[in-house]
Amino acid sequence: MRLPWQKLPWQKDGNGKGPARRATGEGVILKLEDVHTYYGTIHALKGVSLEVKAGEIVTLIGANGAGKSTTLRSINGLNHPREGRIIFQGTDITDTAPHDIVRMGISQSPEGRRIFPRMSVVENLEMGAYQRQKGPEILEDLERVYSLFPRLKERLQQKAGTMSGGEQQMLAMGRALMGRPKLLLLDEPSMGLAPIFVEKIFEIIREINAQGTPILLVEQNALMALDTANRGYVLETGHVALADDAKALRDNEQVRKTYLGEE
Ligand code: ATP
Repeated sequence: MRLPWQKLPWQKDGNGKGPARRATGEGVILKLEDVHTYYGTIHALKGVSLEVKAGEIVTLIGANGAGKSTTLRSINGLNHPREGRIIFQGTDITDTAPHDIVRMGISQSPEGRRIFPRMSVVENLEMGAYQRQKGPEILEDLERVYSLFPRLKERLQQKAGTMSGGEQQMLAMGRALMGRPKLLLLDEPSMGLAPIFVEKIFEIIREINAQGTPILLVEQNALMALDTANRGYVLETGHVALADDAKALRDNEQVRKTYLGEE
């Protein structure tokens, strides 16, 4: 499906020459260099290096406690690394505050959804654009979100907390898109969803990416994640154990045994 707003101004890549392209190797949007992140004395990330390039979907997979969420928290400013660097579009954001990181163009749709339950669907979506000037673009973006998630359009006045888990996930993703992100971080978008919603969410992730937004996707559902992503990183106890094209990881015997549950 191709949509008329496929090439929006904020989706141009850093050099301003045009919309982001898929996984061509140029245009690094995000780079982590030897990142070490702690919770008090707990050394959760022990030297994580990774990249997201223009147009890519990159996935982080790994067992519980491997450090996937901590990697996202290091990027979004909730838990600054003690060592290493995080570079976003050429700017060092290692110690940047979370609200400034959002303003620079990194949006996250969090694990556990965290929508505003007492606010309506449309109010939640508008909150996603709170750092932006009000204007016609916001209406344009709402229309874009409605086209990706028609279910939300049917429920605009419903209190968000009364929606199903899958609908709340859609709302959280829609809200993240309202920030016109230059990079979208997704933490476990399939968690707790019925299989039919899982398929739908991954379809929408592909569509958002096809419209030009690079995505860093953390997933327990390694099979779906590797089928969706261009490249992947396997995290094990705070280290990158493997990094490769998603297809190569999908075919990797160790990955198949450990993360895809194959014999
Ligand atoms: P899961 O899939 O279970 O969410 P994960 O790969 O996202 O796992 P993290 O949540 O990043 O893993 O956790 C990495 C390590 O940091 C784990 O050892 C975890 O126990 C620890 N950790 C995470 N959050 C905290 C916290 N708030 N306080 C102390 N330790 C934490």
